[in-house]
Amino acid sequence: MPLVDSFGRTIDYLRLSVTDRCNFRCVYCMPEEGSPVSPKASILTYEELTRLATIAVSLGMTKLRLTGGEPLVRKDIERLVKAIGGIPGVRDLSLTTNGYLLDRYAEEFKRGGLSRVNISLDTLKPERFTRIARRGDLEGVWKGIEASLSAGLTPLKLNCVVMRGYNEDEIADFARLTLDTPLHIRFIELMPINWSSGDDSGVGMADFFALSAMPGYLQNEKIAVYARADKNLTQVLKERSNEGQGMLDSAQMRRAFVPASEMRLRIEEELGELTPADLQTNGPASAFRLTRPDGLPAPGTVGFISQITKDVCRNCNRLRLTSDGQLRPCLMADGEADLRTPLRSGASDEEIAEIFRSVVVHKPFEHRLEDGIAPTGRNMSQLGG
Ligand code: SAM
Ligand code: SF4
Repeated sequence: MPLVDSFGRTIDYLRLSVTDRCNFRCVYCMPEEGSPVSPKASILTYEELTRLATIAVSLGMTKLRLTGGEPLVRKDIERLVKAIGGIPGVRDLSLTTNGYLLDRYAEEFKRGGLSRVNISLDTLKPERFTRIARRGDLEGVWKGIEASLSAGLTPLKLNCVVMRGYNEDEIADFARLTLDTPLHIRFIELMPINWSSGDDSGVGMADFFALSAMPGYLQNEKIAVYARADKNLTQVLKERSNEGQGMLDSAQMRRAFVPASEMRLRIEEELGELTPADLQTNGPASAFRLTRPDGLPAPGTVGFISQITKDVCRNCNRLRLTSDGQLRPCLMADGEADLRTPLRSGASDEEIAEIFRSVVVHKPFEHRLEDGIAPTGRNMSQLGG
């Protein structure tokens, strides 16, 4: 029996965060000194993760994704990939990574049962890379991309978080990559995760929500979208005070926010019309294809992910497991169920399965960002983005 929530959505996808540690410090995710990490003892072991994944698969959650923090910084990660990849019934095992250590693992991951990877990359310019990720380098990530393509970890998606004043002028450059390469670029709207820091003098949460949710979202209502964007949000980040030390605070994030409608517009203005594309494993992104100058369809696709729009909620099929063993029904709402304690105090598989079922029953229909309710307390690296 598949897991079905109170609103009729089949829940068949589990994202497992394997660590809350990371070797990067992306400005929208972590402060320069790193986020506080959980004590090692509270992080689930590979055996515990494999047991939970096995229970999830038995409940019909046959799509699994490993994420973090940065999953590749966890010691012997290839051992976990192999263990989870070997669970009978897993239909799709994927991984989200910053790509920096990937070239050394790609082949082994493939052999271990990993189907595909999503690699996060926010700029194609080496000097900007340092400004955004604050660790590592572009060359290392490219090596990871190339190694994944040659190992067959495909379709390979590149996740690009778009931020005004950082990389919004590179949107078309990213899209151009799809003309010659089978890369699937996913442009991600900045998400209001852990907006607890900084002042609130910028654009309010309700405005932020309205900008994405407005009629014409992802459609070609160019004038309305630009007018609204110009009025509220085109000022380039002024406060740089946090840069190089903290992470963007809430006011800075709101100013850096670029709605997906504007991303699409920028691509179409430079590279022509985007037509709907059929891509399996598509998840919450709507996928589109460009046409090459020779008239052939581009081998890659572009997509847009906006957690702000409620279309994402309506089709949501997932739960998240944090690295310290908490099961979350929704990224955008606080609320978790503890799996670690029962796991470590002798609970049976059926008792643990029952916790999965009750979390599914309590999965909210949609987020409530428009009411100013955003997740607090944990950032993306801790939630398992
Ligand atoms: N470290 C891995 C990586 O960067 O791919 C996996 C974990 S990371 C938290 C997962 C994804 O969340 C990345 O694509 C990252 O860009 C995205 N992310 C983190 N914070 C975000 C935010 N505030 N808004 C939008 N996306 C965010
Ligand atoms: Fe690390 Fe990923 Fe967060 Fe960047 S987005 S700091 S790579 S966890």
